[in-house]
Amino acid sequence: GFNCGIVGLPNVGKSTLFNALTKAAIAAENFPFCTIEPNTGIVPMPDTRLDKLAAIVKPERIIPTTMEFVDIAGLVAGASKGEGLGNQFLANIRETDAIAHVVRCFEDENVIHVNGKIDPLDDIATINTELALADLDTVAKALLRLTKVARGGDKDALATKAVLEKIEPVLNEGRPARAADLSDDDRKLIRGFGLMTLKPTMYIANVAEDGFDNNPHLEAVKQLAASENAQVVALCNQIEAEISLLEDEDRAEFLEAMGMEEPGLNQVIRAGYALLGLQTYFTAGVKEVRAWTVKVGATAPQAAGVIHTDFEKGFIRAEVIGYDDFIQYNGEAGAKEAGKWRLEGKTYVVQDGDVMHFRFNV
Ligand code: GDP
Repeated sequence: GFNCGIVGLPNVGKSTLFNALTKAAIAAENFPFCTIEPNTGIVPMPDTRLDKLAAIVKPERIIPTTMEFVDIAGLVAGASKGEGLGNQFLANIRETDAIAHVVRCFEDENVIHVNGKIDPLDDIATINTELALADLDTVAKALLRLTKVARGGDKDALATKAVLEKIEPVLNEGRPARAADLSDDDRKLIRGFGLMTLKPTMYIANVAEDGFDNNPHLEAVKQLAASENAQVVALCNQIEAEISLLEDEDRAEFLEAMGMEEPGLNQVIRAGYALLGLQTYFTAGVKEVRAWTVKVGATAPQAAGVIHTDFEKGFIRAEVIGYDDFIQYNGEAGAKEAGKWRLEGKTYVVQDGDVMHFRFNV
């Protein structure tokens, strides 16, 4: 599966967010939930399309797709020098596919700020500097090693070295590695290094209950994010934590009273999914209606492989109905009559929401 690491300075609300994400999952009884490790939670993707499909197919069960969040506590200034168990935390971040950077945008004198003042841009700079310094260290060590290997004429080593040499000056300027001009091939060559500032990143602005409007801290984060082409999700983690503890019925009432259509957490989960370049396709049978995750751009056989590797190996064809067609024509039979049922081959690129059935050889 794909995962998103939750990072940020201490006391900004990371654990509160992580707990809300995982508790919300437990409360929703229909959703498979498990915790792999204390700091890792598998969270169901909220997707109203599942209910609409189920209303037509009337399956025995509905299974959402999931996404993994990892709570990476303890990142402080000096982490790249090993301070505050820095190395361990950085190692955890290296293993994630994307980063959700939580930033404190709420004032509360009862909650101590590590720097003594609320300054989201300063906080972001502190974290980003640590990540960039740690990446710079990784790159410098790798370059030393690769320079030796490359002397023997190793082509891969030479190519990898060339990519790292593009990144090093960018990091030296204090910019993230993702600001370097890298091709897909470049990225493949250096994937193994787990460079943190190369990972897709979004900001979660933790605001007070009344901090969504006219909040200069939030505006500052939004401006910075816009300059980086990054997304911001504004959230009141404390309220989300409260919502996550409610029973389904109470939750609906609470949300209505707050004037919210859904928990703010849903936005975090969806934003994380998009950040990872993921999309959803469905299988819809009487036994189960189920959502599956594939990378944007995945082909039909790759989508089949998400269900089972044998489906990919023995792939023959995919029966496909677009989500909108499936709903509009009230299911497979109606879609077939309307000419909206397609047989697609190996090169078909899956579209978000496709309702699929695979034909394969065993
Ligand atoms: P972490 O160190 O980043 O994991 O931060 P925590 O989630 O442990 O939160 C630190 C403290 O801030 C706790 O006392 C939380 O109750 C409090 N806190 C978290 N989110 C909010 C919020 O949205 N508003 C307020 N006022 N306090 C919060």
